[in-house]
Amino acid sequence: MGPQMPVTSAAMEHQTSPERILMSPLLPQVIICDLRPAGPRHRDADGRTVRDGFALDLTSFCVMAKIYYDSDADLSLLKDKTIVFLGFGNQGAAQAQNLRDSGIPNEKIIVANRDDHYAADAKSKGFNVEHDYSKAAEVADVVFLLIPDQVQPRVFNEHFSSRLKDSATIVVASGYNVFYELLQFKPSQDVVMVAPRMIGSSVRSLYVKGKGFPCFVSVEQNGTGNGMPITLALSRAIGATKTGAIASSVREETAMDLFAEQALWPNIIMLFREAYSVLKEAGCSDEALVYEMWMSKEPAEIFEAAAEEGFIQQLKHHSSVSQFGQLSGALKLDGSNIRAHFKEILYNQVLNGKFQKEFSKIEEDLEKEGDANPLNQLYTKSEESELGQGEKRVRARLGLS
Ligand code: NDP
Repeated sequence: MGPQMPVTSAAMEHQTSPERILMSPLLPQVIICDLRPAGPRHRDADGRTVRDGFALDLTSFCVMAKIYYDSDADLSLLKDKTIVFLGFGNQGAAQAQNLRDSGIPNEKIIVANRDDHYAADAKSKGFNVEHDYSKAAEVADVVFLLIPDQVQPRVFNEHFSSRLKDSATIVVASGYNVFYELLQFKPSQDVVMVAPRMIGSSVRSLYVKGKGFPCFVSVEQNGTGNGMPITLALSRAIGATKTGAIASSVREETAMDLFAEQALWPNIIMLFREAYSVLKEAGCSDEALVYEMWMSKEPAEIFEAAAEEGFIQQLKHHSSVSQFGQLSGALKLDGSNIRAHFKEILYNQVLNGKFQKEFSKIEEDLEKEGDANPLNQLYTKSEESELGQGEKRVRARLGLS
């Protein structure tokens, strides 16, 4: 029997026994949980043993995100709207082409870009390109912000903010700048997120193949009152509702993104680094280690299988020795220390804005050359590890670097 909690009267009103679906007005999610008979047992008039009430069975508790499909979206809402793509890079080029191929007239699409090779690429694909950001801002009903996150505040706040229409829709493809409140909007505008979980080339190639791609959507500011229908129409136009766009928020997207970057992957890098040193000390060669650990692409294949067949179920492709070792080993490990560490990163580094404030101090230095660039310093230090040095030797020997 799992943990139980009493059912509130509000919850009881939504009963669809035996399973109840509770809609929260505060969350994009639908919360689903089973109800179990609870309370004192007694016999009813027919002599059957019954209980007085119900309890939510939290073993079955799950938070399910709402998913939007093509049928939820009305493309006609985009009729007569002028849609500006700020940026024609990875996402910009893919999303602008998808939107046009979904039937939005070319004359209603403007690519706003400096006069360089990205602009030339947009022109070669038949788009109208505006080099003057202010002019693009003045005519935009919708603006997709598809330039790198770290330059968005400067470009948007300087050139777009004061010039955009009061009823404009501003679309971001990542939560960062909206979550940390780095962009300036008017209260009358819609601020929405349409965030593909794919690189731009896949956003385009999947669309061309008639397939969809995973995407997070949310309305962060509903100035016009029409934010969600417009968001869904734009999502459908770029191909994001074909296999389902998942209701999310800039908070959720930023939390997951930065958590992966600052908690999960640093630990994975550390685990590989320490594993390398231990096996090296035990006499393993650099060549064997580099191939065994990643160059054979086995880890890539494992993650591919995890996506296709399930994180745990993919283990069934491994030998019995391997399955036993992995499953029993993982179950023996006590995750409480790492859980505390993860929570520290999530709450006291990501969600409280500490990382964002620190990163903003070094942002400009990332344009610098050599050691003046903090990223170069981190690369130098990381390459000093046994793993870094060992790989360098192996790649040089194989003529790979
Ligand atoms: P890119 O790095 O591909 O953006 C390149 C575009 O930005 C070009 O048009 C470039 O034009 C312009 N740009 C670059 N620097 C500047 C600048 N200083 N001033 C003005 N324009 C500039 O970006 P992405 O497509 O990778 O990312 C765009 C958004 O999409 C981001 O919010 C990102 O988080 C999000 N996203 C990205 C994904 C990805 O796979 N990359 C996946 C999902 C979301 P030019 O240099 O000529 O001015």
